[in-house]
Amino acid sequence: MTVRIVGKKIFPESEYPGRILFCKRVSALEPSFRKLPFACDEIRYWRDLHFTAHEHNARSVGAHGDAPKPISCCLAKMNPFQADNVALNLAGLDEYGAFMAFSLRGGGVSPPPFDSLNFSAEEGDSIRNVERNFQSFGKTLGINPDRIVTCRQIHGDQIVVVESMPVGLPEADAVVTATPGFYPAVKTADCVPILLVDPVRRVAAAVHVGWRGLVKRIARKVTRLMSDRFMSNPPDLIASLGPSIGKCCYEVDDRVLKPFREEFPGAEQFIITNELPNRSGNRTFLDLTAASRFELISQGICEENIHTVDLCTSCRPDLFFSHRRDGAKTGRHVAVTGFNS
Ligand SMILES: [Zn+2]
Repeated sequence: MTVRIVGKKIFPESEYPGRILFCKRVSALEPSFRKLPFACDEIRYWRDLHFTAHEHNARSVGAHGDAPKPISCCLAKMNPFQADNVALNLAGLDEYGAFMAFSLRGGGVSPPPFDSLNFSAEEGDSIRNVERNFQSFGKTLGINPDRIVTCRQIHGDQIVVVESMPVGLPEADAVVTATPGFYPAVKTADCVPILLVDPVRRVAAAVHVGWRGLVKRIARKVTRLMSDRFMSNPPDLIASLGPSIGKCCYEVDDRVLKPFREEFPGAEQFIITNELPNRSGNRTFLDLTAASRFELISQGICEENIHTVDLCTSCRPDLFFSHRRDGAKTGRHVAVTGFNS
């Protein structure tokens, strides 16, 4: 069987026909090779490092003129996420009465440039459209949309603990609850949405992590709060990292790199330089997802309990909004979790 490589993921040819081979470092894939659930007799990789990011995106999204594959094809069997028309859902949480869902951009009512399942009215979409999107999304998930608890995100490290519906929008970048029937949620359009559930203590959390959130160590603070306040044991936790801008597209400069290097432990392993150089010289990219994952593992969450969607928001305009790609006037996704009452 031939397999094809897209980013760091490997797909059987039959599930992923016609896509460009793309692998920057084959060594990074080797552990995945060992886990392949099928036999393969050919692995190829692409060494040309001289494409611009734009060319790279175009090639990896619609290589050789092929239309992007539907989401269900992108998430191979080895991935625990299931897709419907409006969301990616982590499989296997039903037995705990819990769920985790990351919205996609289709299936809503908002007009361009917020088309169409947009969850924020702060960038110009109407409150009515956003309300309707929340209502239909809640209905699809089978939850009461009026119990989805969001916050006014400010790229800080404030955490809201919810026991009843808050009046207004609290300023924070994480929502935690131990009350079934309340659904913590965060909004993103490139940043990493992290969802956490503790099936033992029945605690759920949603966390918004951009580079500022990494520097402020918000993911670590949320897991500590869950332990301190709700007696959560980190090895019991299940985590999902949703769609975010990938290291393929998240180019950063010293404004980001300086504080990141100063504050984040082992920062260099999440910084990638020179893999896609342009004419003017070096380009540096940050791997937000890997750094977020590192934070969770460092708090004692088991690696096998951390699930990553591993799709780049900037590379997939058909599936995701992207602030970096589209500018401020674009939609926002919602990542929501919780326990049913
Ligand atoms: Zn990308």
